[in-house]
Amino acid sequence: MPITSAKFIQGIVGTTEILDDAVPQVAFIGRSNAGKSTIINSLTHNKKLARVSRTPGRTQEINLFLINKKIYFLDLPGYGYAKVSKKDQVWLQKLINWHLFKGPYIQKKVVLIIDAYLGPTDLDLEMLARLDEHDKDVVVIANKIDKIRQPDFAQQMANLRAQLPGHLIIPYSSKTKTGVNDLLKEILAEPVA
Ligand code: GDP
Repeated sequence: MPITSAKFIQGIVGTTEILDDAVPQVAFIGRSNAGKSTIINSLTHNKKLARVSRTPGRTQEINLFLINKKIYFLDLPGYGYAKVSKKDQVWLQKLINWHLFKGPYIQKKVVLIIDAYLGPTDLDLEMLARLDEHDKDVVVIANKIDKIRQPDFAQQMANLRAQLPGHLIIPYSSKTKTGVNDLLKEILAEPVA
């Protein structure tokens, strides 16, 4: 099922009625610079929808998009950007915790984006462990696979699978459009009745 419409609705910094309106939510989360904004843009065929960061870690809000008039994409702030001030890092972490772990929200899917070339960082593994603890329905995007040399690809994917056992991992590249359909299938699929 393709994405035919995508609209920015608002930036969210805390409880808001709009998230109570029963529209299914798909949350995108990842280390700053992992390629989250580029993925949202590539999925929606809109180069400007989510802002690709010139300065990583600048998203201070959760950006809410309405997709195909029936599903929300939530672009959560990136974590782990060292140049963000301590105060801002605390705020961003609070915002992430609030939506994913403390709030009343049940995400249809949580899309965790990791840089497949660099491999998961400690913060990525920590995030995944917390998502598991809270029984979130996670799909892991192994992003930027275009950066991996072809002869190294199978081994790198095997390493990722070993580090992230029990999770669906989709090899992805916004550059070559690899994985776009697999991800769309996961996040837009209607539940089986
Ligand atoms: P965010 O901070 O997670 O939202 O990351 P961005 O979407 O701003 O991307 C961070 C950097 O990674 C940018 O320079 C992008 O051009 C680059 N990038 C994103 N996706 C890919 C990809 O699939 N392949 C490659 N080679 N670079 C990518």
